[in-house]
Amino acid sequence: MRKFNDKKLLIASHNAGKIREIKELLLPFGFEIISAADLKIEEPEETEATFEGNARLKALYCAKASQLPSLSDDSGLVIPALGGQPGIYSARWAGPEKDFNKAIKRVEDELSGKSNRSAYFICTLALAWPDGYVEIFEGRWDGMLIFPARGVNGFGYDPIFIPNGCQVTAAEMLPQEKHKISHRAKAFKKLMDKCFG
Ligand code: IMP
Repeated sequence: MRKFNDKKLLIASHNAGKIREIKELLLPFGFEIISAADLKIEEPEETEATFEGNARLKALYCAKASQLPSLSDDSGLVIPALGGQPGIYSARWAGPEKDFNKAIKRVEDELSGKSNRSAYFICTLALAWPDGYVEIFEGRWDGMLIFPARGVNGFGYDPIFIPNGCQVTAAEMLPQEKHKISHRAKAFKKLMDKCFG
């Protein structure tokens, strides 16, 4: 297990929603955070078949390109009634224009006539150093899908996801509440305990 002893961390992402959440989660540590978008490092193609494979690929690509320790987050919504879809294709269901109304509509259409509405988010974090060393951490958040979408906070599939034990969707929660219990919060807790402790 390698500790993070640097002052600057690169977030290997161009997703504004994700970058914002990661910055909020890392705020207490006080180190400088920049993103791949800031450095104009393009996104590598996600060619792997698993969250871990894609997280590893993105973090290593950015660590090599920037010569900075780089943190990637590969995440997505897994729907058992749809055989695990959209899973690693969660971002792609929103199309090139990243329209999540379209992705949410597709989930609703594909679930029509299916009674199992359970779903979970997965977040896999990869922290890679320029020498090629990588640490991996994972978090999972279970809940149920509801339609129509509700709430304006968060991003992606949050407006149709009611976490187990909650009455509201992830998009109706305050960001601070989501950051205590989400898949990303759980993965970050593991990362912080092991690498930033
Ligand atoms: P990635 O950039 O390939 O990891 O795409 C992850 C996609 O999963 C995002 O674009 C969202 O569609 C979805 N996703 C991941 N985390 C969340 C979340 O916290 N809320 C809602 N959707 C999420």
